[in-house]
Amino acid sequence: MRYIRVIDGGGNGFRRADVFGTKVRNLVKTKKGEITCVEQLTSFVDGGTLADIAGISYAVAGDIKDGVVIKSPQLPWLNGVDLKAATKDCLCKQTAVVNDMDGAVAGMGALLNWPSYFMGITWSSGIGARVCRNGQIIAQCEAGHTQLDHSPFAPLCGCGLRGCVEAIIGGEAMTRRILQETEIKGIKIPEGIHPLAFLDDKFQIGDHWAQEVYDVVALGMGTYLATIQNLFRLPLVVWKGTFAINRLKIMEKIIRHYMRSILMNKAWEPEMVFVFSPQPETDALIGAAAIFDQVYGH
Ligand SMILES: [Zn+2]
Repeated sequence: MRYIRVIDGGGNGFRRADVFGTKVRNLVKTKKGEITCVEQLTSFVDGGTLADIAGISYAVAGDIKDGVVIKSPQLPWLNGVDLKAATKDCLCKQTAVVNDMDGAVAGMGALLNWPSYFMGITWSSGIGARVCRNGQIIAQCEAGHTQLDHSPFAPLCGCGLRGCVEAIIGGEAMTRRILQETEIKGIKIPEGIHPLAFLDDKFQIGDHWAQEVYDVVALGMGTYLATIQNLFRLPLVVWKGTFAINRLKIMEKIIRHYMRSILMNKAWEPEMVFVFSPQPETDALIGAAAIFDQVYGH
């Protein structure tokens, strides 16, 4: 058995593991901000033995092209770094560098026995998605920055535009919104409770305000999914991300109601089946190894 060493990284630090198929072993994490240059990163990759490792695959947040990190908002010190060349030079192993969302969606595919056509979507602080057909991710898209609100007063997004789906129903945007709304309404969030958890608690006891907020979120997601369904006619959507894990099951019925109300062909709503990633914690690692295999025919 020849394992692939996989490193994934984003705003919260790096993880390293050895992956074979869907098996993940020796998972190690760094703290946020512990690695801040390429030398530290390659030395982290080199930890443990590399003797029985077939190659190295990185899953990195940001725009990646031919092994080069073009732009990573979460890891700006990697901007412009040819990570593939730097790693090959220093560790003498074949190396792949993939975007973390590509990794996650390829991992979902591997874990679900490669459905022939599906979309993987992360709904957490932000929103990201990829469509995968016959084992290939069809485009490095920016699905979270699809415009949902076209008004000039729509919420500003981290990307600089207004009204992106991420800026309206992403977890970070929702947290901001709940803080603003509770302040205006004079509702006090108890100390130590996350605004989203507060919203969920209020929803559970049938609070009218919380129900309205849930409804607005479901309308946003339903509209967004209807747009996607009009374009792609997907049989399957695989979800991950804390927002989806905590709320999708409760919201699914209302999301589907809104989706149906704006789809020309109502039958396309039930066609789109929802499942969760079987291993949201490790799917990006498994997928980065799967993409390495695709690239090098391992
Ligand atoms: Zn945006």
